[in-house]
This record gives sequence, C-alpha cells and structure tokens, in this order.
Amino acid sequence: MTNSALTVLYRAPEPEVLAALAPRAQMSDVESAAARETALALIAAVRASRGPGWIDAFLQEYALGTEEGLALLALAEAYLRIPDGDTAARLVSDKVGEGRWEAHLGQAGSLPVDAATLGLVLTRALMDAKRGGVLRGLVRRAGEPLVLRAVSTAMQLMGAHFVLGRTIEEALDRAGDDGLCSFDMLGEGARTFPDAERYFASYLDAIVHVARVQTDLPLMQRHAVSVKLSALHPRYSLANEARAVPELTARLVELAQAAARGGVGLTVDAEEAERLEVSLDIFARAAAAPQLAGWDGLGLAVQAYQKRASAVLETVSAIGERTRRRIPVRLVKGAYWDTEIKRAQQQGLPDYPVFTRKAATDVSYLACARTMLAANRIAPAFATHNAMTVSILLQWIGARRDVEFQRLHGMGEALYEALSERSDLRCRIYAPVGGYRDLLAYLVRRLLENGANSSFVHQLADEDVPAEHLAEDPVAAVRAANFTSHPAIPKPADLYAPERTNSQGIDMTDRATLAAFQAKVAAHWHGRHTAAPIIGGVEVSGEAKPVRDPADTTRIAGTVVNATRADVARAAASAAAAAPSWSATPVATRADALRRAADSLEQQTDLFAALAVREAGKTLPDAIAEVREAVDFCRYYAAQAEKLFAPDVLPGPTGEFNELTLAGRGVFACISPWNFPLAIFTGQVAAALVTGNAVLAKPAPQTPLIAAAAVRVLHQAGVPKNVLHLLPGDGETGGAIVADRNVAGVAFTGSTATARRIARTLLEDETRPIAPLIAETGGINAMIVDSSALPEQVADDVLISAFQSAGQRCSALRLLCVQDDVADRMLEMITGAASAWRIGDPGDVATDIGPLIDEAARTKIEAHLAANKSRIVWRADASAANANGWFLAPAIVALDTPDQLQQEVFGPVLHVVRWKGDEFPALLDGVNAAGYGLTMGLHSRIRQTADLVRAKARVGNLYVNRTMIGAVVGSQPFGGEGLSGTGPKAGGPHYLLRFANERALCVDTTSAGGNARLMSETG
Ligand SMILES: Cc1cc2nc3c(=O)[nH]c(=O)nc-3n(C[C@H](O)[C@H](O)[C@H](O)COP(=O)(O)OP(=O)(O)OC[C@H]3O[C@@H](n4cnc5c(N)ncnc54)[C@H](O)[C@@H]3O)c2cc1C
Repeated sequence: MTNSALTVLYRAPEPEVLAALAPRAQMSDVESAAARETALALIAAVRASRGPGWIDAFLQEYALGTEEGLALLALAEAYLRIPDGDTAARLVSDKVGEGRWEAHLGQAGSLPVDAATLGLVLTRALMDAKRGGVLRGLVRRAGEPLVLRAVSTAMQLMGAHFVLGRTIEEALDRAGDDGLCSFDMLGEGARTFPDAERYFASYLDAIVHVARVQTDLPLMQRHAVSVKLSALHPRYSLANEARAVPELTARLVELAQAAARGGVGLTVDAEEAERLEVSLDIFARAAAAPQLAGWDGLGLAVQAYQKRASAVLETVSAIGERTRRRIPVRLVKGAYWDTEIKRAQQQGLPDYPVFTRKAATDVSYLACARTMLAANRIAPAFATHNAMTVSILLQWIGARRDVEFQRLHGMGEALYEALSERSDLRCRIYAPVGGYRDLLAYLVRRLLENGANSSFVHQLADEDVPAEHLAEDPVAAVRAANFTSHPAIPKPADLYAPERTNSQGIDMTDRATLAAFQAKVAAHWHGRHTAAPIIGGVEVSGEAKPVRDPADTTRIAGTVVNATRADVARAAASAAAAAPSWSATPVATRADALRRAADSLEQQTDLFAALAVREAGKTLPDAIAEVREAVDFCRYYAAQAEKLFAPDVLPGPTGEFNELTLAGRGVFACISPWNFPLAIFTGQVAAALVTGNAVLAKPAPQTPLIAAAAVRVLHQAGVPKNVLHLLPGDGETGGAIVADRNVAGVAFTGSTATARRIARTLLEDETRPIAPLIAETGGINAMIVDSSALPEQVADDVLISAFQSAGQRCSALRLLCVQDDVADRMLEMITGAASAWRIGDPGDVATDIGPLIDEAARTKIEAHLAANKSRIVWRADASAANANGWFLAPAIVALDTPDQLQQEVFGPVLHVVRWKGDEFPALLDGVNAAGYGLTMGLHSRIRQTADLVRAKARVGNLYVNRTMIGAVVGSQPFGGEGLSGTGPKAGGPHYLLRFANERALCVDTTSAGGNARLMSETG
C-alpha cells in the first residue's frame, strides 16, 4: 500500500490537519440554520419521548465522573466472568464498598434505577455493619445470596440491553423483520490460533444464518455482518505483516465469498490506529481477489478521530477505482480514543494519531462525510448517535437515498425514531451477538461512551445541558480555539515538562518510519565496531578479540581489547586526580553535559539499537527501549542533580548560618550487566558523573562495544576525558577496579554472588574508608492472578513479562501463581499465545524472542530444564532459529509449591503454581519466603486484594494489572530489597544521594562583634 498521505498525516500537527479539514466541514449559512433547527427539534423530540430508558437513567445517575460510576464500570467489566462465588463476593464487596450510594437514593427518577440504588445502599450497610465479612459469610451459608443474584441480574440486563442475542439464531429472531442489522460476533481479539479458528467459524456461521433470511431483497436492504480482523489472527500487526497479511487476506476472502454467495454485506470494523495500514493492505488485497470481482458487498469502517481519515478515504476510493466496485464505507468517530492517547505517550511518539478535542473529531467526521458523498466509488453509511452530526448530514444528503445511517443496538433508539418521522433514509443497527463471557469488553466500551462527559449521548440525557449547546457548530468551535490541540493533553515529548523532555520512540507502527529505521540499523551491522580501554580519552591498543553475535556466532559484532591491571591502576590514578575539580564544577555544567549526551544518543538511536541487536541479541523494540531508557536516565539525573545540589539553607538560632551542600565522593566504579548494556551502563555512569564523581566504567564482558560507543558520546558531550574512563574486561578486571584504593563507591548490577564478592573486597583493606555499594541483583519474581482477572490481558502480560527479551531481565516473571478456578483456561490461552510467538534473528522485526547471551547461559538453563523434565508442560518450537545462535526454546514448568523454585532462572522459562482461594495469604508468605524482593505482578480487579498484596509483599516494584517489566525512569523507580539489592532505586528521586557526600556548614555570623541583622530587623 503506498499512499504517502497516510504517512504524512499519521502524527501530523493537529492545527495543520484541522485547518485543512475545516473548509470541507463548513456549512453555508442556510445549511447551518437549517441543521441547527433540525438538531434542536430532534433533541427536543428525544428529550420529550417517554424519557430515557432505565439504562440511560442508570448511566446518567452513575456517570463516569463519579466514584460510584467507576465502581459500577469495574463491576460490569469483571463480575460475569468470575467462576467462584468467593471471588465474586469479594469483587462486589470491594466495588460496592467504594461508593457513597446513599447520595443517589431517589435521584434518578426511574424505578429500576432507584431500586438498584436501594439494593446497593443495603449491601453497603450490611457490609459496614460487619466490616465486609457478611457477604462472604452469606455466600458460604446460602450458596447464592440475594445480593450476588441481584448484581448478576443487573449485569446480565445491561448486557442484554447492548447485545442483541447470545447466538446468531437468537439475534436474528430478536431482530425480526423490521430492523436492518449488521451483526457482529463479540469477543476479545484472538490471542491463539485456535481462538482465531473459533472466531472464524462463528463469523462464517453468522453469514450462513443471515444468508437464509430476507432472500428476496437487494444487498443493501438486507442484514449484513461485521468482522474484526483482530479476531481472525493472533499476530495481526505491522511487525508481523509478512505472515499476517496473506493469512488474514485468505480468511477475509473466504468469509467474503460466503457472504457474496449468500448476498450478505460484510464490513471490516476499524480497530486501533497502529493496525490501520495493515488493515488497508488486507482490504485492498481481498478486494482484488478474483473470486470477489464485481461484488459490491465488501465494506469497511473508517474512524474520523484519526488524523489520517481523509487519506484512508482516498485509499478506499483508489481501491474502488482499481477493482471497479462501489465500496460501502461506514464512517464512525472511533471507539479507542483513550487507548490511542496513552499508547502514544508511553511510546514517546512524535504526536497523536487522533485529534485531542472532541469538536475536532466532529469536524473531521463532517469533512469525511462530504468526501464520501462526493466519491463515485464509495457507498456511504454514517454511524453516529449525535443529533447535530445527523442534522448536518441531512442537509448534505438532500434527496439522495443511496446513503444509510447506522446506530448501535441499545443506543440512539429515540433519535432514530424521531428521525424516521422526518426522513425515509435507511437506518441499520449494529447488533453485537455473544454470550456473557464475550460481551464484557464491548459492554465496557459502551458504558464508557454513555458515561463520558464528552459524549453526545451522555450530554443529551443530562437535562442540565442546554439544547443550544448540543446544537453548536463544531467548525465554529475549532476555529474559536484556533485549531489548537487540547491544552490538557501534552504532546508525548512534553509528558514530563518542564523538568525534562521525554525520550523519543521510533514509530514501529508506521510502515515508512519502520522501513527507514530498519535500513539505518542494518547499515550499522557491518560497521567495524571496536571497544578498548579508554583512559584519559585515549583508546589503548592491545590484543583485539572478537565479540560474537549471539544470534549467529559465526558472525562477529566487533572486537574488544580488554583492560590490563596496569590500565586499571592508571585509569584509577587519573580519575582520582581529576575528581576534585570535577566535583567543584558547577552542577549545571555537569547536568548540561548529560543533556547533550542524551540528545546525541537519541540522534544516534539507529547506531545504538544496531549494537544492542548484534552484540546483546536484543529485538528491535527492546533495542529502541534500551536507547530511550539511557536517554531518560541522562535527562532525569541532570534535572535531579540540579535540584538536589542546590544549597539547602537550614534553620537555626539567630546569628547562625546553616547550609547543607552535596559533593562528589571521589572515584566511582560502575559495573554493569550485559542485559541492559546501554541503559544500565549509562544510568550508573550518568548518576556518578552528575554528582561530581570521576568514573571507572566496566561493562559486561559480553557487551563492551555499545559501552565504548556510549563513553565516546559522553566525552563528546563535554565530560572531561580524565573524569570518565572505560575499562572493558571480565570479573578479574572488575575485582581489580573494586580493590583499587582510589575507588570511593561502587554501583553494581548483576548477580547476588558477585555483589557479595564486591562487598567483601571493599572491606578487605582495613585502612581504606568504607565505601558505599549500590547493588541491584536478581529476583524470583512472581505474578499472582486471581479469577477476576481478564484472561486475554493476563496472557498478554505474562508472555511479555516472562518471555520478552528471552526472559533476560532481572524484573522478568519467573513464577506465575494462578487461582485454581481459572488456571486451566488461563494456561490454555498462555500456551496458545506463546506458541504464536516467533523465535529467531532479533534483527528481524517479526521476531519476538531472540537468543540468550552466551553458551554458558544456555547450558545452565538447559540443565535446569533437564532436571525438571517431568514438570515441563509446554515447550516452544525453536527449530526455525539459526542453529549457530545461542537460542533456547521457551518453556513452561508446572510446580506444586512456590518453594520448588529456589534460584533465579535467567531465561525464557516460566514456572507455574496453582492456588486455591483460601490459600492466598499463605501464597504471599511463600513468595516472600524466598528472600528476594525485586518485582511482583498482580492481576486482580479487587482493590482489597491489591491493598493486601501491597501491604504484605516485600518487593521493590509491584505492578498491578499490567506487565511487570519495563520500569520507566522517573515514573517507576527500579530496584529491589532483600536478596535483590541494596537500593536506592535507579531512576528514582533518592538514587543520586548515595553517590554524594553531604557537607554541612555552620557559620557564627555574630563572631565579628554582634548580631547586626537581629537588631536592625526588630528595630
Ligand atoms: C453502527 C456503528 C458502528 C461502529 N463501528 C465502529 C468501528 O468499527 N470502529 C470504531 O472504532 N468505532 C465504531 N463505532 C463506535 C463509534 O466510534 C462510537 O459510537 C462513537 O464514539 C460515537 O460517535 P457519536 O457521533 O455517536 O458520538 P459523539 O459523542 O458525538 O462523539 C464521540 C467521539 O468523540 C471522540 N472524542 C471524545 N473526546 C475527544 C477528544 N478530547 N478529542 C478527540 N476526540 C474525542 C470519541 O472518541 C468518539 O469517537 C461504531 C458506532 C456505530 C454507531
């Protein structure tokens, strides 16, 4: 697919995109007056109609802005999937306990809502009376208590409101003859190939059933079916397009053929922005399939909230032209806005793919609608519940009848009823079909849409919002704001402003950016990378040894000259001599050097990513994250140092001046690991430098090349050459550095055993000052999953936590503890999803798991697996990986109890234990008992559970309902306790203090003959 407008617009500046769209969305004065009049009439009709149904009243009363609304949303999301009564009761007690329900009593003016409120108030009262124990007691005594039954019924009612039927037969039955539907088979995106098969079968089944009804009508007047491509393939992404595009095209063509045979329209739903380009590719290929030639039933949805919407329409028109067909396009505003904003921020991307003002989305919608109405190759369908949007469209549609409106089942009924009295335009209902398990994610989307303040339907139901406000022209609104983006949504780069700039990511979801980046990275693979001791800025010559590429050991990533003992002594002496003047240099100068280094690293992301791939076996996304983290460390420590090193004037009696200042300790040794060869290396060095220390930096023996490149960057950025020295080498070199008397402190990341050795060495010389050791070591990291967790989310997060980076992160998940009631289903999904991951060359963007760092690592882990052979319940197929690489097929090992895992297994091996509901506290004790305390994960929707884990877990980093790797500098300071490290946490506000000496100054200001200030101030 080549449409450069797609690339240009993807994350273009909002004002530019909007300014270009506004003229197309502009109404004439006559149109504007007419649209406003229609909108006001429609709004009045909807508000005057029988009043909102109970569900509207319910959502109005419990808006998402309130604690109670959020509690209900959480309840709706999780309740129905929990199989065991005890956890269900805990969830209810948790969520009901969070709200002040009494305030809602009698407020909604709707009998069912007030009754529901009363139920919630009573439940709460019951809980308060017996401190929450009552519910659980009831469950045990009565089996199925009244309260739980009531909640269950309420959730099912809510489901039934938004879902047309549990099966396609039931949905067709309920649809009857009068409503025109597009049926959607509900479900989370497929995580496994068997899931994808199941969804495919259910779509096919739906098509077959729909084909049997309304057989005498033309295509556009018959029911249709909507599909989500994410349901048809577990690896549906740009990175995996080589595989996903042909496979998904084949599936889509199969479905479309069945639809064409049955005379049923088929629409591809729009999903996340990062999948847009791939989805267009698949759509274009399917449209070109000879089997579908001449069939006008294959359509797609286009999201107006995306800046690329107009370019998508251009692309669709071109496909229609090429394949000589009219393509049904459903224009929607878009359902994933919050997710899009968060993702762009997390990935540090240049800008958002979506607009940041609601009115901007409306303007884009109108501009797109105009384009669609003018396009020969597009059959327009407008999906909206917004009366003003509808009213404007009516002006432009005029007498045309080849256009349809669409609404969601359970929403917009009153609007479309009122509309049907004014117009005979066709209206289709998007009708989700699915059982309770599948409806939850959809239900949450609908509750969000109904409950959000920005949403039209929410405002329509709120009588306090004047109708005139709802009928405002969005073009006028964006013009009034000068097309600017929303001030409350900073650009991803400004997330941490004004303190520092966020590190830049590479947009791996944009085909052009990805291709350019890959090419740049690949160009560095064949460079002659070298590392040697760098002492006083001079690279020492010596015997150069090859550094092997772990993905293919016949390849050489570069060469290294290791430091000798004499090099160590020379570097240490030079550092010691340089330290005092560096410490006396203003902190702003030191901080500026780090900022310049950060910018330089960022500009050379391709070089550093290439080194991380070839030298450390990192996958491309991991390599980018590695560079970003190094950049963040530099900028964060620069800002922190300026804050901390500002002299602190302290209080005291009159006539006395007290001040606390910080100074460098002298020479710091920074000894870093191979698994974050740039990020941790740079983090340690940057912290030591900015606090005024001279540094002896020793990278891991496996990864000297990237470290040497980083040292060159730091020198170029203004760090004096005699202040920072590089000493590549092995444990012996490390030992010599630590033993040097000039060394006044050590920052170390690596194994617990080495940390102990360092500590002992530091104490050996009785005459040497006691030097601080900051050690960050390993952990046996557990993730606890209870039955309220969402299996798809758990599967995603478990795989990332356990297998990303081939499990070679100290934060990685080693021990998964799953509640027995859901363990079978969770494990099926985890193993199914893991089987779809690709093991291979980390330089290939489609690779999920690269090699281990070296042969020793592989041998050790294979030995562990051999010792636990009978417990292995799943093993990946790594046969496609290069036989010359240090690859290891990931494995899952079932254990009976947590204590069967006694040591950290540093690779892609996940251990699993099951636990029963009442074993929860003992489980936590068991995990703590290992003595490590680095990371822990929890997947639970129950806040009390999270609170309990937080109170009991002795870990440095606890992650709830997310992955447990990827700590972000300044947001999740990282580091453990117990056997896992000494602290303070890297990337946190206390880290730098350990690198500094504190100096207090006290001056008697009266010594020169009296307290002049006191006397003059009180005079
Ligand atoms: C028949 C039908 C099919 C649908 N199919 C899809 C689909 O395939 N894919 C999909 O993604 N959605 C789909 N939707 C959902 C659709 O995106 C939502 O219904 C839409 O959010 C509501 O639009 P509206 O005009 O009714 O409401 P309005 O309240 O007028 O608009 C809400 C829109 O504004 C956006 N918005 C809110 N705040 C901001 C802000 N600060 N900046 C920018 N934008 C903001 C929201 O994200 C939402 O898109 C479908 C909807 C219908 C009716």
